[in-house]
Amino acid sequence: MPQSSATDSPRSVRAKQDVQARRLLSQCGHCYSSRGDGTTLFKCGACQVDTYCSRQCQKAAWAVHKEKCAINRCAQEAGVHAQLKNLRGYTDKHRPTIAEAAIRSLGLAQDVTRAERWCLIVHLQTRPNAQRTDRLYQCVDAEVAPFEVFGLGEAAKMRRQLQLAGAGVVGTAFVVMMCVDPGQSRYLKNIVPVGFEKAVLETSGLPWKEWMMRRLDEGAQAGPADGPHCPAKRVRASSAEEDCA
Ligand SMILES: [Zn+2]
Ligand SMILES: [Zn+2]
Repeated sequence: MPQSSATDSPRSVRAKQDVQARRLLSQCGHCYSSRGDGTTLFKCGACQVDTYCSRQCQKAAWAVHKEKCAINRCAQEAGVHAQLKNLRGYTDKHRPTIAEAAIRSLGLAQDVTRAERWCLIVHLQTRPNAQRTDRLYQCVDAEVAPFEVFGLGEAAKMRRQLQLAGAGVVGTAFVVMMCVDPGQSRYLKNIVPVGFEKAVLETSGLPWKEWMMRRLDEGAQAGPADGPHCPAKRVRASSAEEDCA
């Protein structure tokens, strides 16, 4: 291990030791050569947990790894499933708020066709020690973005869904609830179609982002959106689609 220089703080020395220890722990699941020796390791493609130095080692280890691989995958699916259930629950509690925020942020009162190209993205972070579904997340930001920001395939899927919804007095807009926690490579995404009456009334008051973040932060017990008229209608709640990456 390289000697730390005199200028290193105790904290940075500890950080260096941590990195070194983690490297030594990262070993090939078959021959135990480690990152500490300069070996390049790759993860098992199925479970993304165990690491190997080569295809040969992975193949040789499979008979033993097989069972643990299935357990790893099962645990991940259960974890993601529980998280998605939380995100869906939170979304449902705040549906009137996010529906109205979609109308205002997308400017649908001026042009309803904007909902065919743009969506509202709500950025969330898990709130530590939350006791209630409507308080599970903290809204950290929000923005309007074109569908393509999620990739061309996803954008095509969203447009198809709008076509299926068809023309009528009620239009559909998309709100994407995204949870990205610091230090996590996985993120959760819940694409929520919200319905709106095309005879939309623009509500005045606070700028939409400030208004929405405040309402999400208050929790859901404040009831439906304020103002004399709430144009947002709850439609097709069951068609909300979610996935993770
Ligand atoms: Zn190996
Ligand atoms: Zn595996």
